[in-house]
Amino acid sequence: MNPTDLRIPGPTPVPEEVMAALSHPMINHRGPEFARLLAECTVGLKRVFQTENDIIFYPSSGSGVLEAAIVNTLSPGDRVLAISIGSFGKRFGEIAARYGANVTPLAFEWGTGAEPAVVEETLRQQGPFKAVLVTHNETSTGVTNDVRAVAEIVKPTGALLLVDAVSSLGAIDLRTDDWGIDCVSTGSQKALMCPPGLGLISVSPAAWEAHRSAAMPRFYWDWTNAMAFQNRGENPYTPPVGLYFALSTSLRLIEREGLANAIQRHTELGEFTRRGVQELGLELFCEPRWASSVVTAVKVPEGVDGKRLVALMEEQHGVTIAGGQEHLAGKIFRLGHMGYVSRADMQRCLDALRSTLAELGWKAPAAVH
Ligand SMILES: *Cc1c(COP(=O)(O)O)cnc(C)c1O
Repeated sequence: MNPTDLRIPGPTPVPEEVMAALSHPMINHRGPEFARLLAECTVGLKRVFQTENDIIFYPSSGSGVLEAAIVNTLSPGDRVLAISIGSFGKRFGEIAARYGANVTPLAFEWGTGAEPAVVEETLRQQGPFKAVLVTHNETSTGVTNDVRAVAEIVKPTGALLLVDAVSSLGAIDLRTDDWGIDCVSTGSQKALMCPPGLGLISVSPAAWEAHRSAAMPRFYWDWTNAMAFQNRGENPYTPPVGLYFALSTSLRLIEREGLANAIQRHTELGEFTRRGVQELGLELFCEPRWASSVVTAVKVPEGVDGKRLVALMEEQHGVTIAGGQEHLAGKIFRLGHMGYVSRADMQRCLDALRSTLAELGWKAPAAVH
């Protein structure tokens, strides 16, 4: 099967050069070669994170890094505003609550983004908060939040801003330093074009300051320990060495394309995909103003079995797409276009979708377009 036909929103296709890097012979994770590799990855990541802040590495999935952001900056009882627009936003808030933060949820309807005016009003009426949690790109609904607007509102209140950028970093513009974001969390398996397994987080000076008095329990995630090791070119615990080779290669690919060009490519992929889906007579799940450039959520049309559509796409056409999560299961499907993806890949996906809908006997309602 063509490896580029993995059209789920993570894990994403991995370029051949990155796959090849994974087969590098194993090295001593406490030796000079690893120290150089770690330094090289750090420099490349700072460019993609658009930051001068420290970057901490963990062998983990994205959710682990969300937990790291919480337990390193907060104490039980701290007031936290948890903005959510879908399942990943909910998860971020749940982690904080589980560790004893005093969480005020601010949930927006799935399929819309966090309305900045509502965030502002909530902060004014219910603040102050020690931290605000927000998802940059909500993968479950195909919606991208206006993090810049949220940051402009949050920063003057003095709260820490913790951002889940697992599905967006490297594909959607996120200016960590310019916008004043304290922690940006991401994972290797989405726009960074690597296999899963490496979690990454940026830590601002204000987040370090909060860390010094943060009393939530932590061992594996502890930044003080992690940074002490990283400062001498190591990780505290055995790192996934192969993934560092992969990451250094994918960061070179991003550098070669140019971050701005990669972001523009995703913007165009999003527009191309939405147009293609609508030309088939299908309806987008979210309002256009919130549409994500890395994942497109589409309503399963009337009379079509959503699970069967996803299954047929794979069985008949070799194109793997994602269904909906939670209450959206069977109601939407999602097309991923993050990372190592071209317009031709999306055209193949749209062609397969057209055939699949025909195989399912579905006809676009007449005179809609
Ligand atoms: C994929 C993803 C995560 C983390 O998922 P893991 O399976 O833990 O890697 C978190 N947030 C968002 C927005 C995601 O897309």
